[in-house]
Amino acid sequence: MPKILLFYCFTPLADPEAIRLWQRDLCESLGLGGRILLSPHGINGTVGGELAAVKRYVRKTREYAPFSGIDFKWSEGTGDDFPRLSVRVRPELVSFGAPDELQVDEGGVVGGGERLTPAQLHELVAQKEVTFFDGRNAFEAQIGRFADAVVPDVEATRDFVAELDSGAYDHLKGSPVVTYCTGGIRCEVLSSLMVKRGFSEVYQLDGGIARYGEEFGDSGLWEGSLYVFDKRGSVQFSPDAAVIGECHACGAPSSSMRNCHDLSCRTQLVVCEAHAESAACPEHPH
Ligand SMILES: [Zn+2]
Ligand SMILES: [Zn+2]
Repeated sequence: MPKILLFYCFTPLADPEAIRLWQRDLCESLGLGGRILLSPHGINGTVGGELAAVKRYVRKTREYAPFSGIDFKWSEGTGDDFPRLSVRVRPELVSFGAPDELQVDEGGVVGGGERLTPAQLHELVAQKEVTFFDGRNAFEAQIGRFADAVVPDVEATRDFVAELDSGAYDHLKGSPVVTYCTGGIRCEVLSSLMVKRGFSEVYQLDGGIARYGEEFGDSGLWEGSLYVFDKRGSVQFSPDAAVIGECHACGAPSSSMRNCHDLSCRTQLVVCEAHAESAACPEHPH
């Protein structure tokens, strides 16, 4: 039974290179594939393999004290989700381009937004008028987002700092804002950047859209499909998932995304079945 694990942990790592070698050897010995990033701020990974191997990976990884509290998210795999293994050290776990702004201690990110479980999110929404703030790349929100979410105009995570500093969201600084992303990691950093910039009531959805979907599926505040960075492309929480994407070429409803046909271009576009093989961004028409 193939399984996929998604996890991260913000904790100070004095020697990320040593952890890299250990993690690489561990994954190789267990026949796991996937991607693991390490930085002085912690670890972020997606790995896949057979159930027994994945279980053993979890046990071994938790033996290292700073990783003992890692919250591993499990999902079903297909068996060939990760043909390769990559374990790397980078200045940041998530590329905000602000490695020196981020403060991490044994408790995780310092000064981040208040964490909300999916149930707490519903309680908050029942009490107050909140604004959802999408912490992902704008294209991801084309096929799924929280109701009435603000989707910042970012092509990549490193655009967030300039976007926040542009003043475009200053009107939200005095009101409750809930940041959300796929699994929660981007909001750990984003929410701390927002707090630092004077947003006075910032929350982050703990475990991200993935955990919210496990608990509430399509019967809550989430609308559409969840974009994922692996071969699956996107996932739906139930057969009732709304289709909110529109094919870039013909406008037909769709939840599928494809890369622009130009191989040097990294633009992701919503495509219907008829236009699946001919995705073309405005800069690279056919
Ligand atoms: Zn189409
Ligand atoms: Zn293009």
